[in-house]
Amino acid sequence: MNIAVCVKQVTDTEATAKLEPSSWRLDRSVTCILNPYDEYAVEEALRIKEAHGGEVTVVCMGPENATDAVRKALAMGADSAVLVSDPALAGSDAQATAYVLAEALKTFSWDLVLFGLRSTDGETGCVPGAVAEKLGVPLLSALSKVDIQGTTLTVHRETDEGYVAYECPAPAVLSVIKGINEPRYPSMKGIMSAKKKPLDIKDVGALGLDTTQVGLESAKTRVLSARSPEPRKAGVKVEDDGSGAEKIADFLTGAKLV
Ligand SMILES: Cc1cc2nc3c(=O)[nH]c(=O)nc-3n(C[C@H](O)[C@H](O)[C@H](O)COP(=O)(O)OP(=O)(O)OC[C@H]3O[C@@H](n4cnc5c(N)ncnc54)[C@H](O)[C@@H]3O)c2cc1C
Repeated sequence: MNIAVCVKQVTDTEATAKLEPSSWRLDRSVTCILNPYDEYAVEEALRIKEAHGGEVTVVCMGPENATDAVRKALAMGADSAVLVSDPALAGSDAQATAYVLAEALKTFSWDLVLFGLRSTDGETGCVPGAVAEKLGVPLLSALSKVDIQGTTLTVHRETDEGYVAYECPAPAVLSVIKGINEPRYPSMKGIMSAKKKPLDIKDVGALGLDTTQVGLESAKTRVLSARSPEPRKAGVKVEDDGSGAEKIADFLTGAKLV
């Protein structure tokens, strides 16, 4: 079972995200990390490989320094990687990202493509579905469990009420939720071997991409303005000198909360 895993490099969730005032694009000069949701997708791919054999290939579209996030996935145990990186891709929206990833996925053979549920910066959650559409294969999203017998998948899709079970033949696109597994930290051996694993960097020319479909100019969404959220006001502190309950009741009725 050969598996492709799409991973995104995002700004560190601990860092304060900033937008560049000139373009309203995310300032990516801060510390960047492997998208936390994608660690679960990489881990799930490795578990399927350990159970059924095959190869795990990482696919990423990002700036040149996205090699850091890709190397982390290789250190976790993936076999090889493809990074699509080109200044022409800067500012691409979710549809353009899906187009680029689908074209990269058409360059090698796979039975499954795994995704995280969403990124921690754009958070549209649209890319897996758009890639499945462009590849013409089924999408099974928000999965909390994946079982494989031969080329048949039996999966649990997380819902508010619990889960729904689906059965589907490979090839397919899957997105997995946080908590589907416990990602294993890369070992020192894994980190060292990741440096030698194949990482193929491709530009738009190498993939024969139509540059009118990518980048900020072709983005179907445009940020017109942005402002920081209001700082949270300090809460009301109620000293309970025996009238605490009354004061809280007055506050709630005053705020029309009851
Ligand atoms: C603050 C902010 C707001 C944005 N708002 C929008 C918007 O409203 N509409 C829009 O079209 N675009 C938007 N974008 C751009 C969008 O983030 C990028 O196009 C991005 O590459 C894909 O969308 P996403 O981050 O929402 O991915 P999601 O769909 O949330 O990601 C789901 C999964 O797809 C995979 N994936 C996503 N991006 C990549 C990648 N570059 N390489 C490999 N795998 C990937 C990962 O497995 C990820 O877990 C926004 C970006 C930012 C930073």
